Amino acid sequence: MKIETLAVHAGREPDPATGALREPIHLSTTFERAADGSYPHGHNYTRTGNPNRGSLERALAALEGGAEAVAFASGSAATLAAFSLAAPGGRIVCSADCYHGTAKQLRGPLSDFGVGADFVDTSDTAAVARALETPASLLWVETPSNPLLKVSDIAALAHLAHERGALLACDSTFASPVLQRPFDFGADLVMHSTTKYLGGHSDVLGGVLVVRQPGPALDRLRDFQGTTGGVPSPFDCWMVLRSLATLPLRVRAQATSADAVARFLDADRRVERVHYPGLESHPGHALAARQMPDGFGSVVSFQVPGDARQAMAVAARAKLFTRATSLGGVESLIEHRASMEGPLSVTPQNLIRLSVGLENTSDLIADLEQALGLGA
Ligand code: PLP
Repeated sequence: MKIETLAVHAGREPDPATGALREPIHLSTTFERAADGSYPHGHNYTRTGNPNRGSLERALAALEGGAEAVAFASGSAATLAAFSLAAPGGRIVCSADCYHGTAKQLRGPLSDFGVGADFVDTSDTAAVARALETPASLLWVETPSNPLLKVSDIAALAHLAHERGALLACDSTFASPVLQRPFDFGADLVMHSTTKYLGGHSDVLGGVLVVRQPGPALDRLRDFQGTTGGVPSPFDCWMVLRSLATLPLRVRAQATSADAVARFLDADRRVERVHYPGLESHPGHALAARQMPDGFGSVVSFQVPGDARQAMAVAARAKLFTRATSLGGVESLIEHRASMEGPLSVTPQNLIRLSVGLENTSDLIADLEQALGLGA
């Protein structure tokens, strides 16, 4: 089945008790046991399993084309669960340009737990090959990356990782299952912050790991989910499942608009540099065209001449783009990225990140036109 059909139907059946087309939200934390001590409906306690979470996980596994999905309370909780696969004493090789919270986990708690980490430019396959000369348990690739939109070759990296006995996990949040299918290129795990495109309305936090095939990694992740308890609430699961129905439509429309926005910025002399894989000038464009054939996503980063002050001034003048972090929602956002990432940020100070929403494209471009002002 095609993704539009799966988006509407996967994980959704009429409620057997009432015939309601939308599943009720099961707030109960506990489930009745049969006289023989068994659990006839398959649930015993909502931390280890809940009907709404089960429906969402079935839908996400179907959309990504994996064996099973394991849902978490945030993308960060999903990332931590994946990193736990490297414990005890393992080593993770991670994209140097990645969500700053991912790097923070590796430098903070994971290091405290004895897991080593090295950061490498994963858009440079030869650099990854060198990094994997030292044994690693997990290669974590974020593509396209946050915030520089670097594109890494999932197939080449899967090959390298497997040759060296490591798992390849792909943070595919920026692409969503609509634009990128990491399992087709050999990834073992796919991660999404469902807070972004999958939720799509900036009103629910969540994360997921989709696992390619049953086996020890899936068993460990399922156990981690239930034991550590960073699980999404039944309401949050219901919200994300509801949003999935429109995912392909939203993601494609947003990507088309973002492409026009990127081209506008690229042609404007008040802009120093645009980072968007849809632009032919982007170093990862040819790879992205193969790996993301249906579109390049709707995050666009750009640099303006000057420093943080000039970039902040552009964001300050925006009227339609809202100054806020995050991405993948229906409304367009603008942010000065380095100040959001904090003092350890290595993001250029003059970089602005846009998340292009579902507003009319020419309205968005008109807003940027006036926000750029007279230039630096
Ligand atoms: N991965 C990427 C690429 C992200 O952009 C984010 C958040 O911005 C995360 C992971 C973390 O997700 P969450 O905020 O849901 O914890």
